[in-house]
Amino acid sequence: VSALAPGSVIGILGGGQLGRMLALAAAELGFDAHILTPEADSPASRVAARTIRADYDDAAGLTAFAEAVDVVTTEFENVPAAAAEALIAAGARVAPNARALALAQDRVAEKELFADLGFVTAPFAAVDARADLDTALARIGAPAILKTRRLGYDGKGQARIGKAEDAPAAFAKLSAQPLILEGFCAFERELSIIAARGADGAFAAYDLCENEHAEGILRRTRAPARAPAAVQEKARAMAESLAHALDYVGVFAIEFFLMADGRLIANEMAPRVHNSGHWTADACVASQFEQHVRAVAGWPLASTARLCDAEMINLIGDEADSWRAHAADPNARVHLYGKRKARPGRKMGHVTRLKR
Ligand code: AMP
Repeated sequence: VSALAPGSVIGILGGGQLGRMLALAAAELGFDAHILTPEADSPASRVAARTIRADYDDAAGLTAFAEAVDVVTTEFENVPAAAAEALIAAGARVAPNARALALAQDRVAEKELFADLGFVTAPFAAVDARADLDTALARIGAPAILKTRRLGYDGKGQARIGKAEDAPAAFAKLSAQPLILEGFCAFERELSIIAARGADGAFAAYDLCENEHAEGILRRTRAPARAPAAVQEKARAMAESLAHALDYVGVFAIEFFLMADGRLIANEMAPRVHNSGHWTADACVASQFEQHVRAVAGWPLASTARLCDAEMINLIGDEADSWRAHAADPNARVHLYGKRKARPGRKMGHVTRLKR
């Protein structure tokens, strides 16, 4: 794959904050970013060279987009398979590839690949009908979590099953779509790794980081994670084997549970830049956003070296009103996404605190 020259156009599916930060990183390397989004006045559109406003299943919009850009990438994982196919049919280079996008949309396929690669996962079973849930619970046992196979994010589409009697209510809450039952992992902490594979097959990972969630939403990431060197090395090796197995090009994340006995359990992968990697923009030689743009443009990967310890705090809903205090902190860097309205649970910005 030849490297795109500065002046080329990076196409980004999605207009949210990840698209915005990707577009800014693209501009820094001399590229133009074009956004495809159904949303008017999106956070990404306001920093991009151009926006095509269309739904992700709008064939004419996808074709126009494919013709205007030199590579198509995405800021969200739920790109409809038909959209990826339409873009490829229109001659677009798409990175990450359609297989990686499809994999991340199906929790069962994702865990099957993890198992094939020798990763430890929570025990799991596909649940398509009420009877499957009883069979799965008998094998996996309670406590367990019932999740939608597709389209879950930020803890949405989940039901806890504390004991077998909770099964009917959990199934009723989520039914009428394919599900997965997972054994509950009483983890010590949640970790994630942000890694990249270049078009030339090169691999690079940032330091393992540690995440705190509340109500399914990421609140805080600290880098590096409090984890033994062997765990850090293991996470890195897992990311590398996944990247090569998928012939992946771009940045991705793997989320893990670290158990008290030191086992590292792979929960899920995200085929895109990730909220738990935002600290890289302030604490590393090159951010995850630059790294992703470099990879999809066929450039050499950048250094992932961490310059100092860091902590990233999401500003959710009206927490963004505290920007003034963060802006006055000499060790903090404030990032606001330009969203017009703060709704509860909406990610409005983040702050990185540098530990120097
Ligand atoms: P997910 O949508 O898979 O990222 O799940 C959202 C959050 O739910 C995770 O970050 C965990 O805090 C929790 N969770 C998900 N799966 C499990 C599991 N098998 N055991 C324990 N906690 C889980």
